[in-house]
Amino acid sequence: MTTNTAEKLLRDIDTVNPVMPYLRQERIPHIWCPSCGIGTTVNCFTRALTESGMDLDQIAVVSGIGCTGRVAGYLNLDSFHTTHGRAIPFATGLKLANPKLKVVVYSGDGDLTAIGGNHFMHAARRNMDLMVVCVNNFTYGMTGGQVAPTTPVGAIASTSPYGCFEHPFNLPFLAESSGAVYVARWTSFHVRHIAHSMVEAIQKKGFSFIEILAPCPTLYQRRNKMGDGLETMKFYKQRSIIKNGARTHEVDINLQGEIVVGKFVDIERPTLQQTMDQQLRQKLRDQYAGTGGA
Ligand code: SF4
Repeated sequence: MTTNTAEKLLRDIDTVNPVMPYLRQERIPHIWCPSCGIGTTVNCFTRALTESGMDLDQIAVVSGIGCTGRVAGYLNLDSFHTTHGRAIPFATGLKLANPKLKVVVYSGDGDLTAIGGNHFMHAARRNMDLMVVCVNNFTYGMTGGQVAPTTPVGAIASTSPYGCFEHPFNLPFLAESSGAVYVARWTSFHVRHIAHSMVEAIQKKGFSFIEILAPCPTLYQRRNKMGDGLETMKFYKQRSIIKNGARTHEVDINLQGEIVVGKFVDIERPTLQQTMDQQLRQKLRDQYAGTGGA
């Protein structure tokens, strides 16, 4: 193929690929390994943005540190790549300062539920109006594949060469019991379901949480002899069982068992800003200006 042909092909891809307008193309190529699952989730997110019809100027994306943390930098939106574990407090500040924004937190399992675990619980408890996407690959990818709070018992990691002996978080249960109003789990095999859940979460008021199981072939799959990304897709397809409305305390994940996916929680309760407005208006009446949140 001549260079001109390759350039033409790339130009054509630019014009027909619906994901490209959502990406900062000057940042491409990205850092993700071949068959890493993170890019698939970004594809779903861009589809959800298109389907939701949201004004892109009213969306902000906040990521923490790690391989998934790079998502914010690749999206052609107002986005912020913050410090480790602090995506949720940063996003909370953003939402309180500009209540019209739809603020999306997009991070990995280590960032969100280890160093950021306390922020995760308290934002859900307050019902902070945030959409939180957690790409869960059961390990710390960027730093070398250490045990994470999500690593299944028995799984090999760089810090558990004889198998992890810590019980992992069941993230949907953690989210629901902390107070989330929307909770779903999918794998990166379930691309249409992910995009649909993202549309719902974008439109939801309150703390929405979507967990997406995605392969880290370089560190997790390789060490656990689970094959490459394609093998993992087959694994997800075979092991996943869709149970919408499943009780979150029954959706634990183990190394080789079934993976329960679906929309588990979709309820209504007042957001932090709604509760604050209602209470302070009662006490302070016209002295209170309001948060500006709906
Ligand atoms: Fe993806 Fe793992 Fe590579 Fe990070 S190390 S980019 S999570 S495959």
